[in-house]
Amino acid sequence: MQQHCFRYPIFFYLKTMVAALHAYLQDFSHLLFPHNCEGCGTDVLQHTQMLCAQCQHQLPETGFALTAANPIEKMFYGRLNIVQATSAYYFTKQSLIQHLVHQLKYKGNKEVGIYLGRLLAYQLKAAQRFDGVEALVPLPLNPKREFKRGYNQAAAICEGMAQVLHKPILKNAVTRTVFTQTQTQQSRVHRWQNMDGVFAINNEKALQGKHLLLVDDIVTTGATLEACGAALLQVPYTKLSIATVAYTV
Ligand SMILES: [Zn+2]
Repeated sequence: MQQHCFRYPIFFYLKTMVAALHAYLQDFSHLLFPHNCEGCGTDVLQHTQMLCAQCQHQLPETGFALTAANPIEKMFYGRLNIVQATSAYYFTKQSLIQHLVHQLKYKGNKEVGIYLGRLLAYQLKAAQRFDGVEALVPLPLNPKREFKRGYNQAAAICEGMAQVLHKPILKNAVTRTVFTQTQTQQSRVHRWQNMDGVFAINNEKALQGKHLLLVDDIVTTGATLEACGAALLQVPYTKLSIATVAYTV
């Protein structure tokens, strides 16, 4: 292109015009669809970003991706045979990260998930410890809840991660089964315990022999990730790592 620009000035003019038109259209769409930072409300941010640079910088990074035996890996010691695990941010009450997760889970803002997925993926990429991962597996949501929400938030996070890591997303390879009538009649406590155990492998062929990265929005006790991870490790020759956007201390 450079050579063409030099030899044929028309290419240079065309390129400049296209760039100017692109900038103009972006400004125009900004007028029609104002885009503000989810943190402070400023409109000084790129159209692909949810947060301005300052708010993004203030998110409480854990730094776990960089270190072995971090609290997330320790959480699964003796429970699940994992290769690596991490969580990108500390989840605290009344914080910006809580606001973002709330937008993702209860306000139908899927774009927030894609954005958070990109942030998580940049951490993994920089750390290099997760380079062996071959595919992303979003933690399946209860089908009823996914229908109500319109999407699975973990799958939205995986979408953002795939944009950065260029790894395939194995959606529906493991599924979460719906409760039967008898299960819903059981006591509340029993149901919650049961809920963690209702994962089933749906596509063994897609999973077999792969190093899988199981992804979710938040890790608290790790019980659900453990249940799903245990199902994934039943598939022959799989290896398992875990990554979540946030970690509840
Ligand atoms: Zn901001």
